[in-house]
Amino acid sequence: MDRYAVIGHPIGHSKSPLIHTLFARATGQALEYSAIEAPLDGFAATLDAFRAAGGRGVNVTLPFKLEACAYADEVSERARIAGAANALTFDGASCRADNFDGVGLVRDLTVNLGQPLAGQRVLLLGAGGAARGALQPLLQAGPACLVVANRDATKADDLVRTLAALGLGHGVLSACGYPVLAQHAPFDLIINATAASLHAEPLPLPAQVFGPHTLAYDMVYGKGLTPFLRQAQAAGVTRLADGLGMLVEQAAETFAWWRGVRPDTRPVIAQLSVPLT
Ligand code: NDP
Repeated sequence: MDRYAVIGHPIGHSKSPLIHTLFARATGQALEYSAIEAPLDGFAATLDAFRAAGGRGVNVTLPFKLEACAYADEVSERARIAGAANALTFDGASCRADNFDGVGLVRDLTVNLGQPLAGQRVLLLGAGGAARGALQPLLQAGPACLVVANRDATKADDLVRTLAALGLGHGVLSACGYPVLAQHAPFDLIINATAASLHAEPLPLPAQVFGPHTLAYDMVYGKGLTPFLRQAQAAGVTRLADGLGMLVEQAAETFAWWRGVRPDTRPVIAQLSVPLT
């Protein structure tokens, strides 16, 4: 049986083994998918051992997404732009890296949630790995403007400058800190790519960022109504979503990359969803 795994530290919380097992069952693919906790200083050694034992590919999660890029022989353009990879595939002695987080997000927004991106005003909160991975796929979808806001505004500036140096985002992409966000308001779509919801912390957002038809999207999943989603609700927003769809869609992209068959994501999203209450 072909072997796959997700590698991270810690890894106990990962839903990837369940998602890929459900995909394999639904598509009739014979594979085994496990979770491996690598020591913080042992990512490459853990991968080497998994490959030597016949492993065909891995998903990579925190804190190893940067190391995954460095490990691979070939890195996709979007993983290079993100500076991080979340999937590796092994073909004999060669290893290829890709990053499906951003395409998973865009697919969840446009297909599952019916949120157009072309011509829309989009606010991306955060400038960490998740935000980096989302930027290029979001830009490719053609928004009218894409504002990146971060607690440490210099990090948002750096991110926008990095993309500009690659010829991306001209006239569309800009950066700022939270205190000046009201100047850019309102937005059609606000994506929370910060880790604030993991710590149950609200964000210093002016209420004007939310409009009557805004979709408020929190990348965190499985936590119900997060402080960010509560802030949106308090401002009158009715369109709320968490990041479970993004997680399942990136997994489906990875599965298709490995196996050549794209699973139906809807039953898996329905099975794993936690109500936003
Ligand atoms: P990082 O650690 O790389 O980045 C964290 C970001 O959150 C930084 O921009 C940081 O700002 C900001 N931040 C943290 N705490 C606060 C706070 N209290 N107030 C305001 N900003 C804060 O994390 P990732 O980018 O990897 O992950 C971000 C989130 O995305 C996580 O919750 C993760 O679970 C989720 N995620 C979901 C995925 C999915 O498939 N649904 C996939 C990947 C990630 P600063 O720079 O100022 O410190």
